[in-house]
Amino acid sequence: MVEPTQAQKVQAARQKTAYKPASVSPQRRVQRSYALRLWSVRHSRALEWVYARFADIFLRLHPVWNAIGYGRAEAPVKFVEKRVKGLMFDCRMCGQCVLSSTGMSCPMNCPKQLRNGPCGGVRANGNCEVEPDMPCVWVKAWEGSRQMVHGDAILTVQKPVDQSLRETSAWLRVTAKAAAERELQ
Ligand code: SF4
Repeated sequence: MVEPTQAQKVQAARQKTAYKPASVSPQRRVQRSYALRLWSVRHSRALEWVYARFADIFLRLHPVWNAIGYGRAEAPVKFVEKRVKGLMFDCRMCGQCVLSSTGMSCPMNCPKQLRNGPCGGVRANGNCEVEPDMPCVWVKAWEGSRQMVHGDAILTVQKPVDQSLRETSAWLRVTAKAAAERELQ
């Protein structure tokens, strides 16, 4: 007989009541596959290279974004960013992307949304204490960072998440910031 997974045991032990929320559950991601997210971590070095080229192209397009207006460019860029990063990293659109400092493992997938390393609850198998079937995003972040050229960026202390930037484009923000810095030189 196949042993039930830890998550199945948790689900079975959960108290059954009349109220079942339609779309919210602490176990909502149990059935999900993390395949693409884990693929991205395994290929963090290649993605680091691709992202550097991509950021460069975006920066070259700064005059175009300026001509259109960053505000007007936001909706279409955000549409693409959300889908591409959502597919590859399970991006939560925090608007202040740190993937290049976290081994291409998005820290916003941590149920506690920790931005500076794991909590003390990582299981012996490297999985999350809150979502037992999910590999800890910080264990993966460390693995991914070890393959990257600038992997030691993981040691940089991250600021708390600025919630006012949620659902905004990190791509445009990074580009506008780099352009402003370039103009100061
Ligand atoms: S750090 Fe933020 S912007 Fe980057 S992938 Fe995660 S949720 Fe998305």
